[in-house]
Amino acid sequence: MKAEIIAVGTELLVGDIVNTNAQFIARELFSLGIDVFYQTVVGDNPKRLTEAIEHAFSRADLVIFSGGLGPTEDDLTKETVSAYFGVPLLFHEEIWTQIRTYLKDACPESNRKQACIPQGGRILSNYCGTAPGVIVEQGDKIAILLPGPPRELMPMFTKQVIPYLEEKSAFVMRSKILRLFGIGEARVGEELADLMACANPTVAPYAKDYEVILRIAAKAENGDAADVMIEQMEQKIRNRIGEYVYGYGEETMAKTTGMLLLSKGLTVACAESCTAGLLTGALGDIPGISAVLQESIVTYSNEAKIKYLGVSPDTLRTYGAVSRETAEEMARGIQAKTGAHIGISVTGIAGPDGGTAEKPVGLVYVGVCYQDCVTIRALQLKGDRLQVRQSAVMHALDEVRCRILAQEG
Ligand code: ATP
Repeated sequence: MKAEIIAVGTELLVGDIVNTNAQFIARELFSLGIDVFYQTVVGDNPKRLTEAIEHAFSRADLVIFSGGLGPTEDDLTKETVSAYFGVPLLFHEEIWTQIRTYLKDACPESNRKQACIPQGGRILSNYCGTAPGVIVEQGDKIAILLPGPPRELMPMFTKQVIPYLEEKSAFVMRSKILRLFGIGEARVGEELADLMACANPTVAPYAKDYEVILRIAAKAENGDAADVMIEQMEQKIRNRIGEYVYGYGEETMAKTTGMLLLSKGLTVACAESCTAGLLTGALGDIPGISAVLQESIVTYSNEAKIKYLGVSPDTLRTYGAVSRETAEEMARGIQAKTGAHIGISVTGIAGPDGGTAEKPVGLVYVGVCYQDCVTIRALQLKGDRLQVRQSAVMHALDEVRCRILAQEG
C-alpha cells in the first residue's frame, strides 16, 4: 500500500508550529510496512487542499490528513474531502451528544459542525477532544482524517487507525537502528554500497550530530521472519564496520558509556578544560550515574591545572595547555586526586579565536587514565565552538568505552 500524508493548517505553512504529526504518522506507517513517498503541508484553503488531495490520490491509495477538523470556518478538511469523494456531510446525533458531554455546559452551537461526517464514513472516536476522526473508503482509495492536536491525534491513531491498517496490510515492517561513531557517512556508503542497493531488507545511513545512524528495515509476512532478515543483515554490516558500532536505537554515546560504567561498577572523575562541564553534564543526564560519577573539575586556567590536578608548570611551559603531555597529566591528576577507577581529561581550542598555525582551532586532546595507563586521542575537530566541544565529549566518552571493552578482551 502506498500512503501520503497531508497536514492541513496555515500555521504549519508559515512556520508557527512544527509538523510533528507527519513525523509521528510516517514512523507508524513505516513500522506497518506501508510506504510513504510524499508528505504535503497545505494551508486552510479549499482550492489548494482540493489540488493536494487530487495530486495525492493520483499516486497513492491511502491519504492521511491531520488538522482542520475543528469547529471554526477555516476548518475545512471534512468538507473538502467529502466534496472530492462526492458524498454529503451528515449530522450524527450521537456524536453531538458526545461533544456536549465532553464540553459539559460550555458547548457552542458552532461545535455542531464537528458532528457532521462524510456519508458512509467510519467514525474514529476522540477521547481527548471534540473532533472525531473519520475513515472514508471509496473503491481502492482510503482517506483517514485526524484532528490536529497531537494529544488527540496520537491516541486515535494508535488505538483505532493502526488496528484498521493492520487488517489491510499484508506485511509487517521491522527496523533496527545501529549507531556508529568514528566513521563518516561517505565511508559507510562505500563500505556498504552493495548492501545499500538491497531492496529488502534496506540499509540506509544518515549523519546525525557527530555520528552515523544506520537503519536496517525488513518487510516480511510476519515479525519473526523480518527479525531474522535484520539479524542476518546486521551480521554482514558488523563483519565490515563492526568496530564503529557502539549502540542501538535511542542509546546515545553518553548513555552507552554511562551504562557500561554502571554495569562494571567503575567510578569516574573528569578534568575538563575546553568542554567546561559538558562532559560531566552528558554523564549527569543518565539516571543513577551518581553511583559511579565521583567528581569533576573545570580547570580552565594553567593555575587551576597546576593547583587542582598537579600538572607540572614545566609541562605547561614546554608543551602548552593544549598538548598531549598536559592532557596526560590532567587525566593522571584527576584520577590520583579522586581515587576514581577512571580519570578523563579534555583540553583543546574550541575557537573561534585562539588558534595558531601550529595549534589550530579544533585541536583537542582527550585523555583517559585507567589501570595506571593513559591513552590520548589527538583530534582535529570541525565546526563552531559548540560543535568542537560536543564532539570532544563524544570522543572522551567513546575512549572510555573502548578502554573498558579492551580491558575485557
Ligand atoms: P481543533 O478542534 O483544535 O481546531 P483541528 O483538527 O481543527 O482541531 P487544527 O485547528 O488544524 O486542528 O490544529 C489545532 C492545533 O493542533 C494547532 O494549533 C497545533 O497546535 C496542533 N497541530 C495541528 N497540526 C499539527 C501538526 N501537523 N503537527 C503538530 N501539531 C499540529
